[in-house]
Amino acid sequence: LIIGVPREVFAGEKRVATVPEVVEKLVKLGFRVIVESGAGDAANCSDETYKAAGAEIADNAATLWASSDIVFKVRGPNAEEVGLLREGGTLISFIWPAQNPELMQQLAAKKATVLAIDSLPRQLSRAQKMDALTSMAGISGYRAVIEAANAFGRFFNGQMTAAGKVPPAKVFIAGAGVAGLAAIGTAANLGAIVRANDTRAEVADQVKSLGGEFVKVDYEEEGSGGGGYAKVMSEGFQQAQREMYAKQAKEVDIIITTALIPGKPAPKLITAEMVKSMKPGSVIVDMAAEQGGNCELTEPGQAVVKHGVTIIGYTDLPSRLAKQSSTLYANNLLRLTEELCKTKDGIINVNMEDDAIRGLTVIKEGEITWPAPPPKIA
Ligand code: NAD
Repeated sequence: LIIGVPREVFAGEKRVATVPEVVEKLVKLGFRVIVESGAGDAANCSDETYKAAGAEIADNAATLWASSDIVFKVRGPNAEEVGLLREGGTLISFIWPAQNPELMQQLAAKKATVLAIDSLPRQLSRAQKMDALTSMAGISGYRAVIEAANAFGRFFNGQMTAAGKVPPAKVFIAGAGVAGLAAIGTAANLGAIVRANDTRAEVADQVKSLGGEFVKVDYEEEGSGGGGYAKVMSEGFQQAQREMYAKQAKEVDIIITTALIPGKPAPKLITAEMVKSMKPGSVIVDMAAEQGGNCELTEPGQAVVKHGVTIIGYTDLPSRLAKQSSTLYANNLLRLTEELCKTKDGIINVNMEDDAIRGLTVIKEGEITWPAPPPKIA
């Protein structure tokens, strides 16, 4: 079969769904790979490098989509791209079916088979190698620290120099899931003093192992909402948490927020008052900006200065590290393709008896199969 990789059309999107190193492996699995000309330019993958790895280059999107049995994408397709998808074709991409019912209908009308990488049952240990949410969150956490360091007027590490003594920066991370843990590790490696908080107390050891200090909220309440995710906390807990965060805001130089609750708006953890109380020159990176933000003053997609504090609400952090994120995403899709093509003959079998594949498959030959029943074994 032919795997096609179009250029991403979403404004500002620099990632691409496969990279030359992975093309070689897809070809070894028996597929022909066609890449749209220029698809990898923004991720430092030229047409020539794809060709050298065994891909063919299509001059334009229409040719690419028309030739492809299976399309690999990063962002879900827009209406025009759905129009270009072959009747009965297969699409592997981020889809977010709950948020995009219209797109689901359009794809179903095309009799497509759609594997939504965001719908992977992440709790299956076997699924980890395909978990693009985790790879992208890790990159975002790293990049959030780099953005903070770039906007901050001082060193992260403490230094004794002939020109004077510099204290280390203090960084507070709200939410220690995948992105938060990556941010903790990165900030600690840069030499900052790192503190973190999460409503799920079970992450305390992970925070410590990465060089951070876990700061507890002085209120007993279990924060796990099931499946490793958080729940909405009681008003009493939220009040105690606000008091602790208000104290941290006065002390630290950088706050990075990552707190999310599945299916709910992001919890508002940093109030305008807390921002006002921070030292001038402090930086907040709000990684929850797209879901409404953890900080009251965040403007999604923007970096703004309010009360002397830079508040960064970029919603394209993985795309800002396009080569790295494209490479990890391409590897996640390669692992998925290996699962779909155990026979290594360039043919795929979307096996609905397989828990991981079942979870990902949101449309099968035009029939909407989302949401999947929970997987049987972890
Ligand atoms: P997420 O992006 O949904 O949320 C980020 C973090 O914010 C979470 O740690 C959450 O507990 C925290 N949070 C939510 N509300 C908060 C609040 N009010 N105050 C402070 N913190 C708050 O989470 P994620 O990064 O996708 O990870 C969620 C869980 O899934 C983790 O336990 C992770 O280890 C797990 N996970 C497991 C696998 C696997 O088993 N293969 C893969 C990926 C993730």
